[in-house]
Amino acid sequence: MSDCLFCKIANGVVPSQKVAETDTLFAFRDINPQAPTHILIIPKKHIENNLSLTPEDKLTIGEIMLLANDLAVKEGIDKSGFRVVVNNGADAGQAVFHIHFHLLGGRIMLWPPG
Ligand code: 5GP
Ligand code: ZN
Repeated sequence: MSDCLFCKIANGVVPSQKVAETDTLFAFRDINPQAPTHILIIPKKHIENNLSLTPEDKLTIGEIMLLANDLAVKEGIDKSGFRVVVNNGADAGQAVFHIHFHLLGGRIMLWPPG
């Protein structure tokens, strides 16, 4: 088994608060939420970060965006607004090297981000 934390979460080896699962995706609540809704959406396939994406991942990335929309509706943040964020690499603050899409909402967010 891979030593990757998010692979372990997707496989159920490490527990999480799951909010959605499909054949290819897993979504769960962030352990240290930065907003009233803070969900992480990941592909079950291990992909290190944005730069590691290949053309074969195009469908999966589209599915992630559509799942983000579904979850935003379920969380009641579709009308108020939400962010979908990928932190890529050191300067962006990427801490877990299995690509993940943060779905954030439920409060007013500033721009530029910190
Ligand atoms: P990054 O900084 O890599 O974009 O985001 C990693 C995110 O994973 C952080 O928001 C962090 O709180 C979250 N995280 C780290 N470890 C765990 C964990 O074991 N369980 C859950 N649910 N979230 C985690
Ligand atoms: Zn992984």
